[in-house]
Amino acid sequence: MARPDRRVNLAVARTIPPFLLCVCVYACYIVTKPICIDYLIRPLPKYSRGSRVGAGIAILVIFYVLIFVVIITYLRLLYNITRNPGFLPRSSPPTKEQQETEPSERPQRRKRKHRRTRTAEKPDKTDIDIERGADGNADGGAIPLDNTGLESFYTKDVFVCQEDGRPLYCSTCCRYKPDRAHHCREVDRCVLKMDHFCPWVGGVVSETSFKFFIQFVFYTLIFCVFSLIICATFTAEIIQDTGGANVHLAIGIGLSSLFGLFSFGMTISSLQLAMWNLSTIENLNRRSAVWTLAIRVPDRMLARLNPESRWAPTFRTITYPLPPVPLSPEAARDYQPPEKQHVFAILQTLPGENPFDLGSPFKNLQQVLGYSIIDWFLPLRQSPCADRTTGDSFYELGPVVSRLKKEAGLNPPPESQPTTQNDTERKHKRRRSSHRRSQE
Ligand SMILES: [Zn+2]
Repeated sequence: MARPDRRVNLAVARTIPPFLLCVCVYACYIVTKPICIDYLIRPLPKYSRGSRVGAGIAILVIFYVLIFVVIITYLRLLYNITRNPGFLPRSSPPTKEQQETEPSERPQRRKRKHRRTRTAEKPDKTDIDIERGADGNADGGAIPLDNTGLESFYTKDVFVCQEDGRPLYCSTCCRYKPDRAHHCREVDRCVLKMDHFCPWVGGVVSETSFKFFIQFVFYTLIFCVFSLIICATFTAEIIQDTGGANVHLAIGIGLSSLFGLFSFGMTISSLQLAMWNLSTIENLNRRSAVWTLAIRVPDRMLARLNPESRWAPTFRTITYPLPPVPLSPEAARDYQPPEKQHVFAILQTLPGENPFDLGSPFKNLQQVLGYSIIDWFLPLRQSPCADRTTGDSFYELGPVVSRLKKEAGLNPPPESQPTTQNDTERKHKRRRSSHRRSQE
């Protein structure tokens, strides 16, 4: 059964879009009839004023252009939220045989599930526990519930992982979660780079819609400021002329102030998050979050990981593909690991570090809004961060990951090693051209 707060959110989500439509229709009425027609173009006798046709038409044109832009960005946002919401498919639950491998683990996880709160998943102990596949032994010693879908992780160079090196796991969707994906309780699915569940648009704002959300709240802010200015200006004039206010204009001031303040807050906070390259969920504990990352150990260094080697690595490792599960004692004895193995170092960031921060607010903004002015202002192209055509990592990574690699000695040898700055720049350019190609 849906919990009360979830039901309230869903009910609000269904109510608000029709309410917004009514507000838009009413705003059109206020500006067209009481302001432009009855006061400016053909003033009613009670106003004792001359006709101001030019001002009336100019206000009408600006107002309808602005409301058109707001409606278009809203529809674009709504389209992406309903048609391309970034949901991850569910997997089938573990088989009975798999469940029996961990009789004590499952009830404990079910119990914890009810205590789950809406917090950032990374540093939140409760969420991490829920989303683990099995116990958190290191070095790949733990037997996961299911290895399905791991190829899409270990074929990359870096991914976010648990402390034992396996990707984060959602026990509700029964699947490993790509970096930054989060389980949304309102829609009961994991969502790629989930930002928040937004009742204003009746769905989940995620990597596929965050850009259009920013554009929508930004244009709504401009629209509200314009509406507030004309309502306030003509209310002041009418009070001066007649000694009384027009009730529709007074309501217009109230509505445009309310929505203006709201959209101002949303615009500022969304742009700030985009500049930090964080989602709303990740921002909840950005100062204390510690990210655990699996970073590929280059093939040339694998020999060094031999226990007899004189080189002592400072990190734990995990080797993919993992053995199939469940593995009977006989099967375990006969198990031959595949020839091609992918070894990853398990490294952690310092508290408050963000591996997705590209080191400059402008580059972070580009990941959401796009690489050109047209992309920034028109709701046409998808965000570059939603582009899945380049495969080194799920999202572009910044200087924090370069530093972790350097500290662990995972960087290329000195003779072929470019500077960290150049390396990041090169990857950035590669992603940019790939994004352009994918949009063409
Ligand atoms: Zn999930």
